[in-house]
Amino acid sequence: MNAKPDLVDPREKAINLSDIAPKWAKRLEEEEKLPFPLSIRWFKWYFELDIPSRCIVGEANGSSSSYEKECKECNSLGWQFGHSFLVRSRSGLEKDVHMFLQHWNEKHVT
Ligand SMILES: [Zn+2]
Repeated sequence: MNAKPDLVDPREKAINLSDIAPKWAKRLEEEEKLPFPLSIRWFKWYFELDIPSRCIVGEANGSSSSYEKECKECNSLGWQFGHSFLVRSRSGLEKDVHMFLQHWNEKHVT
């Protein structure tokens, strides 16, 4: 129903980013390009990615920052998302999403 390809290949993944972090998934899907550096939207993303409970990983963890202590991989992926955003790498972000979903499937899906 949607011509735009998903951020992840559904054949490989049991879950999508929209299942665990719908707010960020929507953002990433709606924007073909990342926010223009230093624009208002850029700052909004930047600030949220910098707040552990509000970044992509934080949203998936129930808008909590407890993963910082509880899951080393979530923590490092949180930093990775921020880095990809700062260097404005769309492909980097997609790779991060891919790795995050893979990790989520392995460790956090019960
Ligand atoms: Zn984790």
